[in-house]
Amino acid sequence: MSLLRGKVVVITGASSGIGETAARLLASQGAHLIIGARRVERLEALASDIRAEGGTVAVQQLDVTDLEQMQEFLKAAQSRFGRVDAVINNAGVMPLSPLEALKIEEWNRMIDVNIRGVLHGIAAGLPIMKEQGFGHFINIASIGAYEVSPTAAVYCATKYAVRAISEGLRLETAGQGIRVTLVSPGVTESELAESITDNEAREVMKEYRRIALPATAIARAIMYALEQPDNVDVSEMVIKPVI
Ligand code: NDP
Repeated sequence: MSLLRGKVVVITGASSGIGETAARLLASQGAHLIIGARRVERLEALASDIRAEGGTVAVQQLDVTDLEQMQEFLKAAQSRFGRVDAVINNAGVMPLSPLEALKIEEWNRMIDVNIRGVLHGIAAGLPIMKEQGFGHFINIASIGAYEVSPTAAVYCATKYAVRAISEGLRLETAGQGIRVTLVSPGVTESELAESITDNEAREVMKEYRRIALPATAIARAIMYALEQPDNVDVSEMVIKPVI
């Protein structure tokens, strides 16, 4: 029997890419899911597919930049399934550009979704996990959490922040039954690059995308962390394409 059977897993940003693929994989292993994103029609289509395969899933519209919506999302998981085993803070945006282009609205959007969104997931999930005495945060960072590349200064800054926050959370929750996993993908097939408005950055990404990993590679890493026994903390995973 799958080790994930009956685990209650909350996924942000499940309407495409890594989040969607993780939802399909985890549901196929018997996890009970609640999936969130802004494009609720995409979530409903995904949920129909999952249910048709015999999976268990609830859908909720979610903007991770709104703390109240995140709290409602976690409360919905708790009241529907009775507990929360894991929160996958996956939602993210990546409108890359050189700093000198001064795309300040795009910087702010990355900060809001990639950093505040993860903090909101923690703010909503941590009280529930502390009360339960168990729980697992899986925060999706990037190889950009380890090194900076041109046009990606702000994006990388947000992912460095996710790495720092994850490590701080691990240290501060020691002894409370709460685990923290940082998953850092290299370039992966998804819709992430579609928000790039800067021509130079878009061209660079096209080159990278030739070697992109399938999103299943990241979904399997997430599944690996979730399948471990309670006394095993998978702290960090970096998954890169072979070049
Ligand atoms: P996608 O663009 O395919 O998916 C991003 C998801 O985030 C979508 O479901 C989107 O849903 C959601 N999202 C964006 N903004 C918000 C918001 N304000 N509130 C709620 N959900 C939101 O990209 P990926 O699957 O690639 O991205 C998933 C994660 O993986 C991100 O954190 C990204 O930074 C990270 N990553 C991706 C890499 C890659 O090469 N693909 C490499 C390294 C890291 P909606 O628009 O419906 O709200």
